Amino acid sequence: MNENSIYQKSRQEVFEVGEKYNISEEKLEEFLEPDKILEIKIPIKIDDETITFKGFRSQHNNNLGPYKGGLRFHPNVNKDEVMALSLWMSLKTAVVGVPFGGAKGGIAVDPKQLSEKELENLSREYVRRVYEILGPQKDIPAPDVNTNPKIIDWMVDEYVKINQKLKNKSQISKNELYATFTGKKKLGLSGRTEATGFGGVAILKKLSEKLKLKPENTTVAIMGFGNVGYYFADFASKAGFKVVAVSDSKGGIIKRDSKGNFIPLDIPLVYECKMEKGSLNGCYCAGGVCDTRGGQLITNEELLQLPVDILVPAALENVITENNMQNIKAKIIVEMANGPVTPKAKHYLIKKGVFITPDILANSGGVAGSYIEWEQNLKNKTYKKDDVLKRLEKLMFSAFENVWKTAERENTNLPEASYLVALQRILK
Ligand code: NAD
Repeated sequence: MNENSIYQKSRQEVFEVGEKYNISEEKLEEFLEPDKILEIKIPIKIDDETITFKGFRSQHNNNLGPYKGGLRFHPNVNKDEVMALSLWMSLKTAVVGVPFGGAKGGIAVDPKQLSEKELENLSREYVRRVYEILGPQKDIPAPDVNTNPKIIDWMVDEYVKINQKLKNKSQISKNELYATFTGKKKLGLSGRTEATGFGGVAILKKLSEKLKLKPENTTVAIMGFGNVGYYFADFASKAGFKVVAVSDSKGGIIKRDSKGNFIPLDIPLVYECKMEKGSLNGCYCAGGVCDTRGGQLITNEELLQLPVDILVPAALENVITENNMQNIKAKIIVEMANGPVTPKAKHYLIKKGVFITPDILANSGGVAGSYIEWEQNLKNKTYKKDDVLKRLEKLMFSAFENVWKTAERENTNLPEASYLVALQRILK
């Protein structure tokens, strides 16, 4: 086994849970292997030269519905990573209870090195080369790292064009064609942008209820202030939690009173400041004032080690590891990024009594939002944001209750209970 293979590590984690709960090895093996992995060459013209990029789509499992998962544009995209991420998607869709399977794809490219036109050509060429395996009942891509609604709109447009050109017998309606992608701008879902952060806060509310935490007495530190981190911060502070630290790639901010107590941050003001300055560096905001007095800039490592009640890694994978696990002081970790706590650190922290809400549950609001978008397209409807968020909250509450009950019944932790719920649904 390649020691650095994340796919092998993810397999191992699932295997451990499967073995403990007497799930047949044969069934597990069959599930763990992706159903299909497409590796493609994507040549595009750049400055009169043809450059060939490598693209992937791993269709992991479709026992519960069409394959579902994002497309990532990043230099580190490779077959191993795509396979692991597609396995996580199978578990995630199962745990949140939407009728999808799992998939993931991407292109090994640094999109920041491409002009907008080159990026568009690359996105369209990818679709031309994977067209056959996509479809509203087959495989439904979405945005992921470095891809966004604009890129998805180019992809949908290309998909529609190919379909019109082929004019084959299995012609599908315009809405069905649009249901082949989620996270779009055109015919997209109102509320999809905030769905992951919103869903994470729904889970946080439920967890607080179970643990009898009062939001007004509960401090929260969030690493990452992008799509997931910002909306998590916003909805958490609206729900009354004291969001006392946030960070981006340049560092984090906190504000303390003269006795050293945390002062909650004014999230809309912090956001405004970040938009203005481009980073959180220098944005020390509290109450109605946004200035540098009383504020303090901290590193991301310091943020992870703050004496807060709840820590929310919402940026990168592998940020809580063997190197810093002893210094984590939070009693609860809500994994909003994918894989922010390494398996070894997870074992250590759980043993120490830290409540870890696993990524496949905590950040499943994104794919739950995608499910509502897919349904909206198939039914040729336009849902209102309020209704979308209400439905999303219901889905998240029900997913949480299921995992919580399973953890109580089996006398185990939430990460293990989430895997168990997912495996039992998929392998039924
Ligand atoms: P994003 O690009 O919008 O934001 C990422 C944030 O992380 C930015 O604020 C960036 O400054 C910060 N960051 C980057 N490097 C950092 C570092 N070294 N230290 C601290 N902060 C750093 O991405 P996103 O969509 O918010 O996704 C964040 C995580 O959530 C990823 O792991 C992603 O896979 C996961 N996720 C996202 C969604 C979704 O719907 N967007 C759904 C499920 C999971």
